[in-house]
Amino acid sequence: MRKKIVAGNWKMNKTLQEGVALAKDLNAALTADKPVCDVVICTPFIHLASVNNEIDKSIIGLGAENCADKVSGAYTGEVSAAMVKSTGADYVILGHSERRAYYGETAAILKEKVNLALANDLKVIFCIGEVLEEREAGKQNEVVKEQLEGSLFELSAEQLSNVVLAYEPVWAIGTGKTATSEQAEDMHAFIRGVIAEKFGAAVAEETSILYGGSCKPSNAKELFSKPNVDGGLIGGAALEVADFKGIIDAWKN
Ligand code: PEP
Repeated sequence: MRKKIVAGNWKMNKTLQEGVALAKDLNAALTADKPVCDVVICTPFIHLASVNNEIDKSIIGLGAENCADKVSGAYTGEVSAAMVKSTGADYVILGHSERRAYYGETAAILKEKVNLALANDLKVIFCIGEVLEEREAGKQNEVVKEQLEGSLFELSAEQLSNVVLAYEPVWAIGTGKTATSEQAEDMHAFIRGVIAEKFGAAVAEETSILYGGSCKPSNAKELFSKPNVDGGLIGGAALEVADFKGIIDAWKN
């Protein structure tokens, strides 16, 4: 059975002290009332080592929001996959639409990042999704397929087992405009089909596909009720314990 996952993406929010306090509070809340899904928090690089000391890793996984496309060396300001791993983190988000749009991350760059992350024993949360104009032109499937092909199709099936996919329609990120559960289900089923075609049906069945884009406690249950939606990648609502826990609890009956 593939994993049900709720992952938080803190983005560029919280000072170190605020982030540590948030992680501590989340850890206390989930220790008192255990989740029935996997929970991951992805934080800015500078928080990772400190947050790692505050959380029970059997309840909360830890991830970065990015890593470099190079192994090591003269790349001022970059953080390598090996450095991320050394903090205690087990995950890294790659291919987020903000990285693609604002930092010029192409499919080829992302392919390097994915390869380095996996080589350093990090699980990858790989984001894909179309912008509004692409959806309005009916091109969303084509766009998402190209994103998968461009960065993941040279992986082995075994490597792909360490990749979680996150479908994040760009028009729904941080906009308060959520995809309907039917739109999410249609796309997730399509993505699973693409994975099945390339890697086989058994691999596709085991691949968790998360939805991301203005997911909140009020819509999480409906989104997660769909057979191909295996959880969520959560931005804004991951910054408050009550909201994030509300989404985590959507997996409970
Ligand atoms: C995200 O950026 O990954 C995201 C899903 O953001 P939000 O939940 O704020 O839309």
